[in-house]
Amino acid sequence: IVRMQKVNKYFGRLHVLRDIELDVVPGEVVVIIGASGSGKSTLIRCVNGLEPFQQGAIEVDGHPLKPGDQGSRDLQAIRREVGMVFQQFNLFPHRTVLQNVTLAPMKVRGTDRREAEETARRLLDRVGIGNQAEKYPTQLSGGQQQRVAIARALAMEPRLMLFDEPTSALDPEMIGEVLDVMRELAGEGMTMMIVTHEMGFAREVADRVIYIHEGQIVEEGPPEEVFDRPQSERTQAFLSRVL
Ligand code: ATP
Ligand code: MG
Repeated sequence: IVRMQKVNKYFGRLHVLRDIELDVVPGEVVVIIGASGSGKSTLIRCVNGLEPFQQGAIEVDGHPLKPGDQGSRDLQAIRREVGMVFQQFNLFPHRTVLQNVTLAPMKVRGTDRREAEETARRLLDRVGIGNQAEKYPTQLSGGQQQRVAIARALAMEPRLMLFDEPTSALDPEMIGEVLDVMRELAGEGMTMMIVTHEMGFAREVADRVIYIHEGQIVEEGPPEEVFDRPQSERTQAFLSRVL
């Protein structure tokens, strides 16, 4: 569902992604790990066109993205089909939880209000906060807000979900409830690309772990291989710091 070929990305003179080659198949859960500044966020932001890239090609669910693409039909289609959850929840503060979840389906897809609200309530139930629908984001805990953000992304019926450190801004006691929701999604066959520092979670849910160092994929494989038998010295050094 995702194909990245020789993707290169620069911020000015800084070469942030180097010849990234990455395919993700439907239903696969890919976890991306690496040190701060290695390019993890940039990589997944390229997948839904939030960041333009300079060389190479990306294809998402049959839609091609080309270097410098800023607003093609394919890019718009990709944004509709790919859900994204960030470290900061990015909810609309002046809208209720329910409105946060119904907004995009109504605006972007033209879903009528009744149907959008029905779907939203079902999704909020599913992430365990069905009783919070009328509240405003600031009235919720961080873990609850992040679950609203996940429900909001799911409301667009995404073919692919991207997560960029979804639990990094949370108090420790709230991390588990967000990981539980993600674990369930993975179990239901959702295709996911996840940047996380939660190595236990990565080991458990990932079909494939990718270690990225200075914008390059240094190592990839099933979690048992990457975590227990890393081939590259860089991966070994990184893991010895974080495990
Ligand atoms: P972290 O774990 O801290 O989130 P990361 O692996 O997600 O790090 P990126 O955010 O992808 O790293 O950043 C990769 C490199 O690109 C870093 O050197 C960063 O400083 C640089 N960078 C990121 N965004 C920009 C930007 N908008 N303009 C210029 N440089 C940027
Ligand atoms: Mg990042």
